[in-house]
Amino acid sequence: MEKICVAVRVRPLVSQDSLNGSFWKVEDNRISLHKIHGTPLSGSSYAFDHIFDETSTNSSVYELLTKDIIHAALNGFNGTAFAYGQTSSGKTFTMNGCETDPGVIPRAVKDIFAKIETMSEREFLIRVSYMEIYNEEINDLLVVENQKLQIHESLERGVFVDGLREEIVNNAEQVLNLIQIGEANRHFGETNMNVRSSRSHTIFRMVIESKGKDSNSSDDSSINDIVRVSVLNLVDLAGSERIAKTGADGVRLKEGKYINKSLMVLGNVINKLSEGSKQRGHIPYRDSKLTRILQPALGGNAKTSIICTVAPEEDHIEETKGTLQFASRAK
Ligand code: ADP
Ligand code: MG
Repeated sequence: MEKICVAVRVRPLVSQDSLNGSFWKVEDNRISLHKIHGTPLSGSSYAFDHIFDETSTNSSVYELLTKDIIHAALNGFNGTAFAYGQTSSGKTFTMNGCETDPGVIPRAVKDIFAKIETMSEREFLIRVSYMEIYNEEINDLLVVENQKLQIHESLERGVFVDGLREEIVNNAEQVLNLIQIGEANRHFGETNMNVRSSRSHTIFRMVIESKGKDSNSSDDSSINDIVRVSVLNLVDLAGSERIAKTGADGVRLKEGKYINKSLMVLGNVINKLSEGSKQRGHIPYRDSKLTRILQPALGGNAKTSIICTVAPEEDHIEETKGTLQFASRAK
């Protein structure tokens, strides 16, 4: 069982207000809540594999947390990278990035095709799909009509989303275009795009298949002609914030319940996986659509990383603690 790599990223302050009571301090791989001009507050200090402070770049996140997963995927290992955190903490910034600092997804896409160029002894077939899970319903982001898709399981295909479009792609530009189409589809008919995207999980998936090119010509043909298939998932999770019971209308409350449930199940699954094989017992993959879809690429010899994004503002201290606790359980 591969260890799950857990990291925390603190986004820069976005509002104009300065901090006046307490602040989160990052020292190496530890983050703790401090009183301004004072001592650390007890019980609010956490350590992780990596902590990216507010000066960090998507480039550094990719190098330290995701690159190995991408390279392993080219060699036949499944992998999943998650962004977890409250709305506005920087999940989408980390996954998609901006013009000057592209995020984990575009970097992964470019890296995959660049690597393939260097692996001339193998032939690759790459397929891309893009979906969202909203209120426990799976919608295809590449084909607007493909809504409320069902999960099935078969001997040949394993667990799969029935009817989900898989586009065969040959270069990075093609994939980046598909992502843009997906983003446009998701926004279709939404009055507030941010609201919808923060209430749904998005899974960007690449299936990487390869086989040795001239398997007959060499002695080690038995190794060369093995077909490798791996699944790579890059996941921007729904906002982890608690929905206030009072004030939330029917729709918000329903969304909140689905999000809380699926993030809780994800936490349970990851917690079980990180406990190690002996004590593990039953892993509740089937308790949510998210974990069911990701099951083949979680656990076993799949590689997994989670970047937990937090907001530095004092208003968000409770949510930040919640995220750091989730991250601590995942280690
Ligand atoms: P989330 O997806 O978690 O809701 P976003 O990624 O949309 O959050 O981030 C909220 C805002 O903060 C956006 O305007 C985004 O550009 C900005 N932001 C987030 N993280 C960073 C960062 N590391 N550097 C600069 N701006 C950031
Ligand atoms: Mg977002």
